[in-house]
Amino acid sequence: MNEERLIRQFMDMLQVDSESGDERQIADYLKTHFNQFNVEIIEDDSVEITGHGAGNLLIRLKGTEDIAPVYFTVHMDTVTPGKGIKPKIEEGYIVSDGTTILGSDDKAGIAALVEAIHIIQENDIPHGDIEIVITVGEESGLVGAKAFDTGQLKSDFGYAIDSTGKVGTVVTSAPTQSKVEAHLHGRTAHAGVAPEEGVSAINIAAKAISMMKLGRIDSETTANVGRIEGGSATNIVADYAYVLAETRSQHPEKMESQAQHMKEAFEKAAETFGGSAEVSIEKMYDHLYAEQDSEVVSTVKTAIENIGREADFISLGGGSDGNIFNGKGIQTVVLGLGYENIHTTSERMPIEELIKATELIVEIIKVQQAK
Ligand SMILES: [Zn+2]
Repeated sequence: MNEERLIRQFMDMLQVDSESGDERQIADYLKTHFNQFNVEIIEDDSVEITGHGAGNLLIRLKGTEDIAPVYFTVHMDTVTPGKGIKPKIEEGYIVSDGTTILGSDDKAGIAALVEAIHIIQENDIPHGDIEIVITVGEESGLVGAKAFDTGQLKSDFGYAIDSTGKVGTVVTSAPTQSKVEAHLHGRTAHAGVAPEEGVSAINIAAKAISMMKLGRIDSETTANVGRIEGGSATNIVADYAYVLAETRSQHPEKMESQAQHMKEAFEKAAETFGGSAEVSIEKMYDHLYAEQDSEVVSTVKTAIENIGREADFISLGGGSDGNIFNGKGIQTVVLGLGYENIHTTSERMPIEELIKATELIVEIIKVQQAK
């Protein structure tokens, strides 16, 4: 491991603008950067779907046929404020100057992968194909991963390197989520002169929401009404209201039945008042789940022990690119990268975790090779 090179690469990469939606500069930088290795680099045509600044990158380091391929995914985009980042080292951490985020989410993962390839090549570590998918638009709704064609991958499983928690943390469970959107229609009337002629869409919304199970449904399932809009003046019976809600669960069937329950509440309330409800349920991402005895988990568990840490298996309440790849049939768990205070101007990256993340990637390749 060349720690100095790792830190230099990371700090260099942080200075390349990469706000979500505007990934052209970072994508070009990464293409040039990965070109130093003998790799195949493909930029997909997902721009047509995402409208983002660049496509997803698939980087393939060819290996021997008798070792199973493995893939890693990281994202190149970062949140705002993220232009003109000036990283510096402060007491074992890499930090920004305080006016921007740092961008260790997820560039620490990319930098660790770059250094891992250096180590693998310099030490002639045997490996199968190593595939790296660097997505765009993770921060803007996982749009890059959603548009990525996993048919291009040779790997059956792999790792998303993009989670809080120290290196050694492994997310083996994360929920699926659906958006429930209701357009509620009533009938307008003068609220003072002829209220009986009106059907209040606001009353429909209120009735529907009051009939719903919301909040924590059970240990694995949640639901929330997040936005409500409608109406105009106090003297007008509102003929339209809009309600936006969500539900998530570690179990797809539970999420589906909760979404259905919410849909029916809107429909029933509309019927009660003599109005109507158009309700749509849209799945935002699939769930992520890996058994303890699966190859994806057992490989990383051994690798974590080999770098002198203990594996900490956790379940998360939100989705990431890992959920999308799982949904597309590529078994993926998410690895802790150790970054701190992400999405804030006090974001920081412990240098020790950057080093450990690199070691872990190399170790995953070694464990994979020994199988
Ligand atoms: Zn991230």
